[in-house]
Amino acid sequence: MDLWQRTMIRLARSERVTGLMQRHGGATALARRFVVVGGPEAAAAAARRLRDRRGISASLSYLGEYVSDPVLIDRTVEASLAVSQLLGAAGLDVQVSVDPTAIGQLASPDLCRANAERIARSVASQPAAGRNFLMLDMEDLSLVEPTLRLQRDLLDQGLPAAVTLQARLRRTEGDLESVLTRAPAVRLVKGAFPRGPEDDHQGKAAIERSYLSLAQMMLSSPAREAGLHPVFATHDDGLIGRVAGVARGMGVPQDGYEFEMLYGAHREGERRLRAEGYSVRLYVPFGVAWWPYAVRRVGEHPRNALLLGRSLVRRTQTASATPRR
Ligand SMILES: Cc1cc2nc3c(=O)[nH]c(=O)nc-3n(C[C@H](O)[C@H](O)[C@H](O)COP(=O)(O)OP(=O)(O)OC[C@H]3O[C@@H](n4cnc5c(N)ncnc54)[C@H](O)[C@@H]3O)c2cc1C
Repeated sequence: MDLWQRTMIRLARSERVTGLMQRHGGATALARRFVVVGGPEAAAAAARRLRDRRGISASLSYLGEYVSDPVLIDRTVEASLAVSQLLGAAGLDVQVSVDPTAIGQLASPDLCRANAERIARSVASQPAAGRNFLMLDMEDLSLVEPTLRLQRDLLDQGLPAAVTLQARLRRTEGDLESVLTRAPAVRLVKGAFPRGPEDDHQGKAAIERSYLSLAQMMLSSPAREAGLHPVFATHDDGLIGRVAGVARGMGVPQDGYEFEMLYGAHREGERRLRAEGYSVRLYVPFGVAWWPYAVRRVGEHPRNALLLGRSLVRRTQTASATPRR
């Protein structure tokens, strides 16, 4: 990880800066670019706009991960339930993404399971306008086993639980095999939690090889006949082109899979893929705890530093204009 990314992660973790920015900076360019700063209503409205104006689907995720405070856990669960109902009522497909550590995994796995069940039941009870499921995000390696177990428990109860898998991890091929003919969907990412050579494929080329070989498994006839919906989540234009090439070679039509990107991260890519007839989904984070998430996006892509600079200046101006109590 380079110095820039490490600096952004430090900024993301600073409680002081987080408090300052979230108090005054919700209207900044940085916040607006990557996050819907608001509650479930604002998030559902954003999902509707994406579908109506641009033919893009959404997966909604309430901000706030790695927490064990019961108040914060409840807040995420309630926001996820509310957004599921609002999406259903709006006739949109209902996809809610959650990090297990946002709904209680660190406090108690039983609590996490109960919360995930409530959200998955809500998703399952909405009108089926499209593909309705709860998407489990994948966090660091220590959480891979618990997350897969959680997904298995939900599937055993007949609930629509999809999972995110990380191509950088060596173990993922085995994990994918175990869910390939059971899960309603798998979202494949490169993986945001680098480990050492023992656990990870090393270097961009090796991660890409792993990604493409996993993509092939997800697009295979047994997976598709079992109902798996493949989701390829990346902003990497070269990789997107190669995945589309693999799908074409295997005779999978464009609507047999989708590409997913982070809201605000690669607008040009979204537009191009839609124009070429691909299905596109955006991962839309919403809530008020936007600073750590948005600053990590700047760390991934230094060109976003301009947004960060403008937002810090604006925040400073707002703060100095705010009367002190
Ligand atoms: C929908 C979605 C869900 C995800 N869920 C998870 C998850 O559950 N667990 C997990 O470990 N990881 C998750 N990730 C993150 C993922 O693992 C990668 O860390 C991240 O997507 C960057 O990798 P990349 O495939 O985009 O390729 P890269 O090679 O990192 O980037 C490709 C190109 O996209 C640009 N780019 C990358 N990120 C940004 C950005 N934020 N803004 C602007 N440009 C950017 C790069 O500068 C580069 O030009 C998710 C990613 C997406 C898109």
